[in-house]
Amino acid sequence: MILDAEIKSQLSQYLQLMEGEVHIKVSSGTDQVSKDMTALAEELAAMSSNIKVAQTELERTPSFSINRPGEDTGITFAGIPLGHEFTSLVLALLQVSGRAPKADQKIIDQIKNIKDEYRFETYASLSCHNCPDVVQALNVMSLLNPNITHTMVDGAVFKEEVEAKDIMAVPTVYLNGEFFNSGRMSLEEILMNLGSGPDASEFADKDPYDVLIVGGGPAGASAAIYSARKGIRTGIVADRFGGQVLDTVGIENLITVNYTEGPKLAATLEEHVKQYDVDIMNLQRAKHLERKTDFIEVELENGAVLKSKTVILSTGARWRNADVPGEKEFRNKGIAYCAHCDGPLFAGKHVVVIGGGNSGVEAAIDLAGIVKHVTLLARSEVKADPVLCDRVRSLSNVTIIEQAQVMEINGTDKVNGVTYKDRQTGEEHHIELQGVFVQIGTIPNTEWLQDTVDLNRVGEVIIDKSGSTNIPGVFAAGDCTDSKFKQIIISMGSGATAALGAFEYLIRN
Ligand code: FAD
Repeated sequence: MILDAEIKSQLSQYLQLMEGEVHIKVSSGTDQVSKDMTALAEELAAMSSNIKVAQTELERTPSFSINRPGEDTGITFAGIPLGHEFTSLVLALLQVSGRAPKADQKIIDQIKNIKDEYRFETYASLSCHNCPDVVQALNVMSLLNPNITHTMVDGAVFKEEVEAKDIMAVPTVYLNGEFFNSGRMSLEEILMNLGSGPDASEFADKDPYDVLIVGGGPAGASAAIYSARKGIRTGIVADRFGGQVLDTVGIENLITVNYTEGPKLAATLEEHVKQYDVDIMNLQRAKHLERKTDFIEVELENGAVLKSKTVILSTGARWRNADVPGEKEFRNKGIAYCAHCDGPLFAGKHVVVIGGGNSGVEAAIDLAGIVKHVTLLARSEVKADPVLCDRVRSLSNVTIIEQAQVMEINGTDKVNGVTYKDRQTGEEHHIELQGVFVQIGTIPNTEWLQDTVDLNRVGEVIIDKSGSTNIPGVFAAGDCTDSKFKQIIISMGSGATAALGAFEYLIRN
């Protein structure tokens, strides 16, 4: 039995939502994965009279496609989509059966209008929390447009293919046999990458806002909700709605929520903002801010200029790079930034984690359960929480090297080593390895504000108690500010503060 009793009972409720017949076509051989895959298809068919199973021959074995009667959708799973991909399988079954995918009509129309033939392949791992979003988005595209097909390839089952393509990060998407993109992408981001996104003309005639928020993480979402609830005209521009939360796995410290996962929280943030009259402009980057006589103007990278009486900056932060020779060259060729996502691709290998703070130590602990050996390089001493330090020091396959300054990440076509200097003796050392995880904290997304807003030494926006910056009418919130601590709940609180500060400013001016 592939599905346990608990999953079956949950699944049977979902399968009741199916609206029509679905044909699963299985391409199987004599190997164990093929047998398990066939067993899974048969278990699904036994649970719903809407599911029929037939044998076929597909490009990859073992794999199976999910189709409408008499019409192939192009949705294929190569491998068994359990783990994080199980949701992708359930959604594919429901959507192929006739249930409408959750997407704005504008996006659905953009997908249907695609004329080119696109054959997508997503290399995924079942433990990758970023992969399902990409798999599900491409499945929806495949479902809505007969010119598009999509196969999810489980890298653990198709190891030779992954090695031949030198894939060292998941999800990695190929389009018509060529590398397309790597990392988490939403449906809108995929369309933008295909050149089917909105252009500047869509922003040309927008009326001025009362509050324009730049940044769509927890701080921006909270500021948007607080502003819109005052009944004032509110807009939000975000490069990537959800922010850092999208890259977070388990969240256990958002008060009143015992446990959630980043992508889930990002989805509920967006859902909550959409309850109100907020103009959401996702996948748009701001590049310049200027205070004019009547309004503050924010120019976007697409050339559009948005006007507003007040602006709330909530552009958050991003992963800090190691900034050493070799980092750019070997990104996705052995250098990774997400231990949860890419760890399984380094199973049985030797990896280095750069960073002795909480994120470095957490990554080392996580990786120690998967890889053969982890070397943790800390620039000074290990500075993580005591509980994490105790845990990492107890692991037999983790070596900790303190006072290690990384000089270079070495490799030929992919990473094969790291050179570091012992900061106490000045001696250089070389470690041979197959993977490097960079975990050295974050950097504020404020470069675009350097000439206009007062920033502190590390580039954080300087704010006062009501979130005001040095520019009248411009407020800031969250990780992009000089607030001492950076957390989701703190960002949400400061987003609310900035929104109330902006509202007070509007009343008085
Ligand atoms: P962000 O979340 O960084 O959002 C910034 C927003 O601004 C994004 O939408 C981004 O696309 C957008 N943006 C950036 N530049 C521009 C631009 N020029 N134009 C337009 N938009 C722009 N915190 C916890 O409380 N609990 C945890 O368990 C936890 N775990 C974490 C795990 C990881 C791996 C990481 C990286 C962080 C974690 N944090 C956790 C910290 C938490 O995620 C952040 O404190 C929080 O997300 C900050 O919210 P924010 O809205 O200020 O910024």
